[in-house]
Amino acid sequence: PKVGIGRRCGAIQANLDGYRKLMSEEAYEELRTLAKELEGVKVCHVNSTAAGGGVAELLARYVPMLQALGVQADWRLIHGEPDFFAITKAFHNALQGGHYGLGKAAQDLYLTVNERSAKALGNDYDVYIVHDPQPAAIRHFAGPRDAKWIWRCHIDSSAPDKEVSQFLRPLLEEYEAVVFTMSQFVLPQLAAKRVAFIAPAIDPLATKNMDLPEDLCRRAIADSGVDPTRPLLLQVSRFDPWKDPLGVVRAYRLVKEAIPTVQLVLIGAMAGDDPEGWEILDRVEEEAAKDPDLFVFTNLAGVGSMEVNAFQRGCDVVIQKSLREGFGLVVSEALWKEKPVVAGNTGGIPMQFPEPFQKNLVDSVEACAERLLHLLQRPGERGEFGRAGREHVRRHFLMPRLVRDELRLIKQVLE
Ligand code: UDP
Repeated sequence: PKVGIGRRCGAIQANLDGYRKLMSEEAYEELRTLAKELEGVKVCHVNSTAAGGGVAELLARYVPMLQALGVQADWRLIHGEPDFFAITKAFHNALQGGHYGLGKAAQDLYLTVNERSAKALGNDYDVYIVHDPQPAAIRHFAGPRDAKWIWRCHIDSSAPDKEVSQFLRPLLEEYEAVVFTMSQFVLPQLAAKRVAFIAPAIDPLATKNMDLPEDLCRRAIADSGVDPTRPLLLQVSRFDPWKDPLGVVRAYRLVKEAIPTVQLVLIGAMAGDDPEGWEILDRVEEEAAKDPDLFVFTNLAGVGSMEVNAFQRGCDVVIQKSLREGFGLVVSEALWKEKPVVAGNTGGIPMQFPEPFQKNLVDSVEACAERLLHLLQRPGERGEFGRAGREHVRRHFLMPRLVRDELRLIKQVLE
């Protein structure tokens, strides 16, 4: 495997006028002012995968927007061998509450890759924003530099595995600031120098979320073999046990007892830093092989952002049956498209739901099936939910708000 840090700068020139139309004049002016104040400051985002999963999704749009605002921003990746990513995936799961018997060999490999990455990262930036546990020890190995370091945690780490938490805590305490999506997610006993709470956001102008003609969505769906005239349920997510794709299949089977024509599409990207995905993909594909109304699509078969967009727009109800979830960008993506969502009542999902529709947050397969059936039988309620969802996302979960919050934080750590 390639060693060291590679570059991945956004190639897309974000269209600032497009965002301006979605914001109040006051919010837009604040964004411009903050960017102006940070002129000349060099910011570097560091994570461990260029594709697959929410962080890559976010950075691919967020970094170009910073650049369009005149902030000097880069995005760099750490590279590691498969064993490293097996360990960091276990860290991810352990921060979400899974158990991990952290041994000396795992600690050593984790630290070795981080040390190597810190060296490769060089010394060119004023502010480093390091995402999630994979590169978290970089700051430790970066040595005494003038730069400011922010650790951005995308995970609900409120009830972590004890050993992993003890191991990571001192590394995180070296940062000038740590960011969590919400106050309930903070790692217990973390003595951070500064803590900020910033929720992620979606980019309404990205191919993933841009408006598409209804007819085009229907044709794209039909082209994949799904019948666009029959009821359609959709979950878009990595094949991860915490996203519960097999629970989604069970809920769909319960719905099918009442509505035999219903179909289910599972779309899942395989992320470079997620070795668990393949195993779960196999199991989901076994289910699909037995059922002509159950479809499994991946990015490997050419299902990219545009196709995800078409399916999100063309389905009847979106499911996100997570058992744990840092945020779940897919929820905002669906609501922005005025789709009703039935989702796990966990982590960052509830805050994305408009209050009157929170009864669609579920804790079991049976509850999920009940809400799906309820919504499938009520087109009027689906429409109301969708419209309220879009307005809620417009106010709270669009990219300009995220950029503003992070620029405010960068300004504070530089003061
Ligand atoms: N995604 C995608 N194709 C897939 C699966 C996921 O484009 O097959 C995207 C999805 O639209 C979303 C992101 O990957 O933008 C997943 O982010 P989320 O926060 O929902 O979950 P994470 O993977 O970070 O846990």
